[in-house]
Amino acid sequence: MDEFLKPLVDAEQLAAARYADVVMPHWHDNRVVLIGDAAHAMSPQLEQGANMGLMDAYELVRQLMSQPSVPDALSQYSTARKHHLRYYQWASRWLTPLFQSYRTAAPWLRDRLMNSGNQLPMVRRFGADTLVGVKQGWLRANMDLGEIDSLW
Ligand SMILES: Cc1cc2nc3c(=O)[nH]c(=O)nc-3n(C[C@H](O)[C@H](O)[C@H](O)COP(=O)(O)OP(=O)(O)OC[C@H]3O[C@@H](n4cnc5c(N)ncnc54)[C@H](O)[C@@H]3O)c2cc1C
Repeated sequence: MDEFLKPLVDAEQLAAARYADVVMPHWHDNRVVLIGDAAHAMSPQLEQGANMGLMDAYELVRQLMSQPSVPDALSQYSTARKHHLRYYQWASRWLTPLFQSYRTAAPWLRDRLMNSGNQLPMVRRFGADTLVGVKQGWLRANMDLGEIDSLW
């Protein structure tokens, strides 16, 4: 570790990572659509940003291939992506103060509740599904990755 840290003598040598939450009521407007971080950037607590962008691209292609017009495809795209994206946007915003903040009570609670909660199979399963990227809400069925097949 020393070999990496010793050369660091000035804060100027570090690159600051800035996060912003992008929250939009919907991601398309007639013939224009935003996908990936442009549509829903979030802080990287769940490490899902790249995955979300890829899922967007997959769904967008699927809709463009199956709908009769571009506006129809974009409208169906926004509907299809809604629950998955909203869940991860919500979870990422909720987790940020627990993992990256100057607060003291929230991280203290995190260490106690997450450790003991993970002993419960249901909680552990919920956390694993979230980290795998398949959750679509608290009560909604998980995304079925088996449905993702080749488009070509
Ligand atoms: C510190 C940090 C850690 C992260 N860790 C993870 C992780 O572990 N796992 C994970 O899945 N995600 C992680 N992410 C999030 C992930 O990096 C992003 O969600 C993902 O890169 C978004 O992909 P994107 O293609 O939507 O956008 P970007 O990767 O930002 O790509 C947009 C591209 O467009 C280009 N561009 C911008 N403006 C223009 C223009 N006017 N003309 C032409 N080109 C332009 C940019 O140069 C860029 O290459 C992390 C993010 C951060 C900041």
